[in-house]
Amino acid sequence: MIRKLFNKLFKPRFRTERPKLEHTKTEPVRPRNAHRAILGVKSGNKKTAQNHHYRDNATIIPYSQHQIDHNLLSNAAHKTIDGLQKAGFEAYIVGGAVRDLLLNRKPKDFDVATDATPEEVNRVFRRSRIIGRRFRLVHVLFGDETIEVSTFRGHHNAEGDAHTDKSGRIIRDNVFGSLEEDATRRDFTVNALYYDPICQEVLDFHQGYADIQAGLLRMIGNPETRYAEDPVRMLRVVRLSAKLGLKIEPATMAPIARMADLLQDVPPSRLFDEMLKLFLSGHAIESVSALREQHLHHGLLPMLDVVLEQPKGERFVMLALKNTDERILSGKSANPSFLFATLLWHEVIAAWESYKADMPPIPALHMAMSEVIATQAEKLAIHNRYTATMKEIWGMQPRFEQRAGKRPFGLLVHPRYRAAYDFLMLRCESGEVPAELGAWWTNFANAEGEARNAMLQVDTSPKKRRRKSRKKPTNDKHGEITQDADA
Ligand code: ATP
Ligand code: MG
Repeated sequence: MIRKLFNKLFKPRFRTERPKLEHTKTEPVRPRNAHRAILGVKSGNKKTAQNHHYRDNATIIPYSQHQIDHNLLSNAAHKTIDGLQKAGFEAYIVGGAVRDLLLNRKPKDFDVATDATPEEVNRVFRRSRIIGRRFRLVHVLFGDETIEVSTFRGHHNAEGDAHTDKSGRIIRDNVFGSLEEDATRRDFTVNALYYDPICQEVLDFHQGYADIQAGLLRMIGNPETRYAEDPVRMLRVVRLSAKLGLKIEPATMAPIARMADLLQDVPPSRLFDEMLKLFLSGHAIESVSALREQHLHHGLLPMLDVVLEQPKGERFVMLALKNTDERILSGKSANPSFLFATLLWHEVIAAWESYKADMPPIPALHMAMSEVIATQAEKLAIHNRYTATMKEIWGMQPRFEQRAGKRPFGLLVHPRYRAAYDFLMLRCESGEVPAELGAWWTNFANAEGEARNAMLQVDTSPKKRRRKSRKKPTNDKHGEITQDADA
């Protein structure tokens, strides 16, 4: 027992130790898989031999042509590839990172594809965990970077496949396959390029390299079937074309308009993840405009189509998206709660108006906020951690109207003041509230001491009477929201 534990902790993870690889800017130093021969690792691996056969069908793009500088890969990406190849598996950088490197863009993150099963990957890396149901993947952790490692996916049986629903949508997808099959399962040709940073070759099964050169986004296989399998691909095509400035190839574009309704069947949590990527891509304005052109926005944010059709609502949403795009493109972060709060604000206003007929303004606002979030959740599940902050930002808006007494001071020190103030500024800019209100708060926050006190307005609200009884106090008549009202 103790020996077992000792072995588990101290036994080397790889069968063969090999010298650390030096990554240089120069041409490849070793041919593909040379390290396997040198180090005598698992060259007889059946799966690997089979994959070499499949590689023969790929166009191999040499370093002299693609010129990817492998030093642009993160340390974690290098270590993941090294680790897997050392253990005798095939491993490539795949997907968005290869595409972005070829387009001279900085990859957002690095994904790895391998012939190792999730369990095998998990055994190679001490700090790794298997995740996912629809796609079983492994997250390999190095410091605060995570590399997503997926096993080559195989083909589905067209008929009687238990893992698709009646419209052809793939519900579960854990059939493992060869490298070539994996390439065919990917969405666009430019996303199906496999880069081996050790021998510095790019493998291309679907003319993705030529499409990158031509600036084209083309679906692999029959676009109609591929959208039916996974309707989210319709959103991906719009997002990637806006983000990368690639043109959508006509056959890839054609079925979208008539297939847009299929988005209704996508689970809300997946839609949320995809929409978040879209809004935080730095190209949200172009993406939303393209979604509208393709009529894809109807099924997404149930209110977005309504909001965009009212001039004030549209102005507000577009300003918010512009603001987010500018932040992202200048390297700043953008808060998803703030963004979703802006997207749904005009819907909150409409619901608030109708509740105000029956109750005081602040309870009416709270009713409206809950209603909007609940309706939204049917289509797009906004995570709870975001809705709490959205409610705080919305709930603070009426407090900006109160500019007398102690209340403005309380608002300034609220932990969400900055987000709520930015939100107020957007409301001013869109013409919903007077610009003077925003300017007052800007000046008030910047003023000091007496100058700040002098800005306060005369308190005209009716004085609260002190209760003599020692009864538990009820809610404030004016509906003042406490700082942790929505926490
Ligand atoms: P981004 O730069 O925005 O991350 P990406 O293409 O890398 O774009 P990911 O969601 O990270 O997008 O996906 C990684 C890769 O997985 C894609 O490049 C593609 O090859 C494949 N992929 C992702 N989603 C799908 C899908 N719905 N259908 C088929 N392949 C997909
Ligand atoms: Mg990616």
